[in-house]
Amino acid sequence: MPTESKTKKATTKNVKQTCKKIDFDKKILFATSEAVPFIKTGGLADVAGALPKALVDRGVDCRVILPLYMDINQELRDKMQYLGNVYVSLSWRYQYCGLFKAVCDGVTYYFVDNEYYFKRSGLYGYFDDGERFAFFAKAVLESIKLMDGFYPDIIHSNDWQTALVPVFLDVFYREDEHYKNIKTVYTIHNIEFQGRYSGFMSGDVLGLPDWAREFVDYSGDVNYMKGGIERANKVTTVSQTYAQEILNAYFGYGMNNILVNRQYKLSGIINGIDVKSNDPKTDKHAYVNYDLSTFGKKVENKLKFQDALGLPVDANIPMIGMVGRLTHQKGLDLIAPIITRILDMGVQLVILGTGDYKYEEMLRNIQSRYPNNLRSLITFSSELASKIYCASDMFLMPSKFEPCGLSQMIAMRYGTLPIVRETGGLKDTVIPYDYTTGQGTGFTFYSYNAYDLLNAVERAVGMYRDYKEDWSKIVRNAMTQDFSWENISLRYLDLYKQL
Ligand code: ADP
Repeated sequence: MPTESKTKKATTKNVKQTCKKIDFDKKILFATSEAVPFIKTGGLADVAGALPKALVDRGVDCRVILPLYMDINQELRDKMQYLGNVYVSLSWRYQYCGLFKAVCDGVTYYFVDNEYYFKRSGLYGYFDDGERFAFFAKAVLESIKLMDGFYPDIIHSNDWQTALVPVFLDVFYREDEHYKNIKTVYTIHNIEFQGRYSGFMSGDVLGLPDWAREFVDYSGDVNYMKGGIERANKVTTVSQTYAQEILNAYFGYGMNNILVNRQYKLSGIINGIDVKSNDPKTDKHAYVNYDLSTFGKKVENKLKFQDALGLPVDANIPMIGMVGRLTHQKGLDLIAPIITRILDMGVQLVILGTGDYKYEEMLRNIQSRYPNNLRSLITFSSELASKIYCASDMFLMPSKFEPCGLSQMIAMRYGTLPIVRETGGLKDTVIPYDYTTGQGTGFTFYSYNAYDLLNAVERAVGMYRDYKEDWSKIVRNAMTQDFSWENISLRYLDLYKQL
């Protein structure tokens, strides 16, 4: 093993001594388009920040690679060291690829540098995203040559942005000594976004020879996710329920038949959350820190937040929070028809998120009619997210579909009881409260129906107001759930071992 790995293991040991080391000598490269703490737009970044770290804490040599975006802040850039450069061929293109490295909290991160593709604000949404992430997928494989002898045994890629890694590996690299035995895992975090482009890109951008075009061909188009599913040795998604759901057309967004044929290699592993950074006891954005034993202090967060938001300040008013993208996925179409009925219950609803203009507009309009009951914070802010988790009594997440969902787990950790639809990871992580047994961590409903959602909110608000003892019981149940990556990383290790 290279000296560097030894040093890294020693550092890791110092970082976390309590975690039991596992005897697993395979090297893993985790390819992702975003990772905390460098850059984040959603749950993938949280996973990419936490899973490799949990594996490293177990003594596994897992490293992460992502694009060097312009938006990565200078403080983090200052930690990076330049390793060298190679050129990446992408059909007729021949593109520069610099490689930087940074070690953060014991984990080694590599950054692919190409200013033409990544010196832009934001991460996605450009006309040439298909080309940008095809480049990145190829650059992941080329960059290995610059990693000072770190040749991975397993490459774990994620979502459409890195779905082409197993395709390029099989088509272009298998004859190379260092690549011929690499195994691949491909994780679907959200099947709605597949990287689907004109079929013309197969040759002109991906540069695939004729015999390989079927890997990504989807009704004449190119579909990156299909390529990942076809070529990876193992395909996973982020909850067991979602792994089942995506086999049928309602959830599968056209990938269902492909997945049914590849079911033998498909499995679901629930995500964890970073319990260190999502902790009401230490959260630096909390007005007042608390934990289960000092739960009484939580209400001070509500009072201060009400004041900051210009809402009536009253501890008895139930506050319902919501943090997430304002899209149809997150159940905005269920909220829209009944939102005024919820507000008429005399609650305060605080919604943080950005997304589709029609939902943003709806929230702005209703806020002007219900200034004492609704605050829509149309922005992305980790500070406000923390404040909502700390201050709210309940957390609303009535998703149409939810591969895993992290927000509901964070909410439970903060003693903010989730109201969720029983789908995907929401079903696997929120246990509906049953007053006969005292078991349960939140309030759930099943059908994609606005009135079932309304009923769930009524149950939650009713219990909050009238059954304080039951409420405390659910809070205790929720706050004592183990959502840490420490245990979940073992499930990934089992999967890697199968390879
Ligand atoms: P997604 O489908 O977007 O990945 P998840 O629930 O899996 O949804 O993860 C969302 C993560 O992003 C959570 O950590 C949540 O707190 C955070 N988040 C979402 N929207 C915002 C926002 N507007 N401001 C701050 N954090 C946000």
